[in-house]
Amino acid sequence: MQLEMDHVWRTYRVGDSDVVALGDVSVCIQSGELVAVVGPSGSGKSTFLQLIGLLDSPSEGAVRFDGQDVGSLGDADRTRIRLRALGFVFQRFHLLNHLTAVENVMLPLEAAGAGTVERYERACSILESVGLGDRLLFRPAQLSGGQRQRVAVARAVANSPSVVLADEPTGELHSEDTHRVLNLFRALNAQGRTVVIVTHDPDVAAIARRRIEIRDGSVHE
Ligand code: ADP
Ligand code: MG
Repeated sequence: MQLEMDHVWRTYRVGDSDVVALGDVSVCIQSGELVAVVGPSGSGKSTFLQLIGLLDSPSEGAVRFDGQDVGSLGDADRTRIRLRALGFVFQRFHLLNHLTAVENVMLPLEAAGAGTVERYERACSILESVGLGDRLLFRPAQLSGGQRQRVAVARAVANSPSVVLADEPTGELHSEDTHRVLNLFRALNAQGRTVVIVTHDPDVAAIARRRIEIRDGSVHE
């Protein structure tokens, strides 16, 4: 799926002034790319990812998927695209603490309407593929940071999305865990998925073939 931002602005009204989180951004990411979005804190990276991930809408301009303006779609269609085509990974994992690893990975499969046995088997095999076959019934508190993030990656790809979006996915990890998680993103990209990683870590950015640099809400490539 081709992801495009066309003269996108995202502004926030705070008190009586306007904060420009992103100003006039035009970017096109082709299907199958591995992209790092880099830039200092507060430059607009998360805003960029939330817009491309349909978690937010532009104040002006268009976000297009395969040429279609997704801003013109209703909430149900946007949710359907998010569930089927996009997988998200966040810095703080966003796992449900009362559920086991396998239950966390089963969640998005439920939304996609799969049966219980199928969901369980699929979640197990994805967790095995990220090296957590021996941690299926552990809850997040019983896992290390790197293991939690691998569960989060497994959950993000449970529905076989064509696009994986990650916001500072290694921000809370030690270097060994960082490399393991980065290898997962590399493998997902090698399978043909588009991968967009927001990061301010040069080691993370180094695995990407393309870098989009954001400074003060503007893109510089
Ligand atoms: P980054 O992820 O690069 O650190 P963000 O995209 O989170 O940056 O934020 C970009 C800018 O937009 C920052 O100056 C931030 O203060 C501002 N911003 C983000 N979200 C909001 C909001 N909900 N209300 C007001 N300003 C915001
Ligand atoms: Mg951010």
